Amino acid sequence: MNPQLILIGAPGSGKGTQAKNLIDNMGYKHVSTGDLLRSEIAKESELGLKVKSILADGNLVDNDTVLELLNANCELDGFSYIFDGYPRNLEQAEALDSHVLKGANSIAVYFDIDLEILIERIVNRRTAPKSGEIYNLVTRPPKVEGKCDVSGEDLVHRKDDNEDTVRNRMNIFKDNVDPVLAYYESLGRLKRVDAKASAPEVYELIEKIIDIK
Ligand code: ADP
Ligand code: AMP
Repeated sequence: MNPQLILIGAPGSGKGTQAKNLIDNMGYKHVSTGDLLRSEIAKESELGLKVKSILADGNLVDNDTVLELLNANCELDGFSYIFDGYPRNLEQAEALDSHVLKGANSIAVYFDIDLEILIERIVNRRTAPKSGEIYNLVTRPPKVEGKCDVSGEDLVHRKDDNEDTVRNRMNIFKDNVDPVLAYYESLGRLKRVDAKASAPEVYELIEKIIDIK
């Protein structure tokens, strides 16, 4: 069984893109706390209404709420998962170990990249929620403007993918990431990939990490 994979990286560093490839090619299941929160907002559930403005401003939802949502949406039970967007701070990293992984074999992969490059990536991101495809108007444009190549659905420009919100999200990332990396490093569970390489190159690096384990 492949190890549980914890993807850590700034917004736009390529976690979702690699998760999609790993799901399609290696049978991983995917849990993205950002996707789960956006889906609650779309449903206008009580939780969705509570977190809507937090996501719009690019701030973090409180740890207890996100852990509860995560736990309700992943059941390890013989499956290999990709954790995307969780953990985002040390308390979440500890909670992932004690409440979700509970000793399961896991690796944290850090998407290492200069944050300035990411603004351009993010403002040009377009997503297809049903197929899970992720486009970029500059580096991976869809064949037909505004439509997914795979499903034909309308592409979405996330509300929080604007420059102001992105800068706030980057600052929050910078403020929280070091203790998370130190945590996994101290446990011998941290691997780093050069996330400015092309998406296929990053995929190869991750494949190697999984094969070694
Ligand atoms: P994250 O999930 O970490 O926020 P995404 O996977 O959604 O990041 O990628 C953000 C944007 O950058 C998307 O538009 C995607 O197409 C593009 N992208 C992803 N990986 C790469 C890469 N290695 N090189 C260039 N652009 C990339
Ligand atoms: P993402 O899709 O990972 O870019 O996340 C989008 C937004 O969802 C973030 O800017 C936060 O507002 C919220 N969010 C996602 N994951 C978490 C988390 N682990 N902890 C707190 N907030 C989160």
